Amino acid sequence: MSQPSRVFVPSVTEEDGGTIGLGVFSTEEVAWKVLRKFLSKSHLMSLTRSDIVIWEVDQVGENGMIVLSSMHCRDCPVCKRRTFWIDLETYSAMCTGNLCEAWIEESTLEPGKIDLGWPPTRFLKQAENIEDALSELRIIGAEIEAAGRTPEDTFTSIPEE
Ligand SMILES: [Zn+2]
Repeated sequence: MSQPSRVFVPSVTEEDGGTIGLGVFSTEEVAWKVLRKFLSKSHLMSLTRSDIVIWEVDQVGENGMIVLSSMHCRDCPVCKRRTFWIDLETYSAMCTGNLCEAWIEESTLEPGKIDLGWPPTRFLKQAENIEDALSELRIIGAEIEAAGRTPEDTFTSIPEE
């Protein structure tokens, strides 16, 4: 096998500013897989952001580095847990919390519009912009609370890992 000319490096940043490297990979696909797997446990940690950076091998200096993706971790508008990963550049977001997976994505059919959804009730909607999309998800979160269940109660049937 020949040496890769570029490598993909996923990492996450903790609340105290420390960075955790998740490895160095020869394909983007594997780098994403490793990062997604790690983020699926992010409710157990205090993370603020994640990055995937491409490094050109044997290139000196900053020009050898391209940021492929940066996501920030926020409180989920639906389940309220610190598991909502949002990429402000591509207008996409996804909750990595168990049984939530609320998501936001720019529409592929109508560019400029934002699709959003909440898989547990197959909720699907379109919004004009990312702020409206977040409000729609907050409404679902409020409805769950109004139904008399706190977000924690909603998920108590899930065995802890
Ligand atoms: Zn959530």
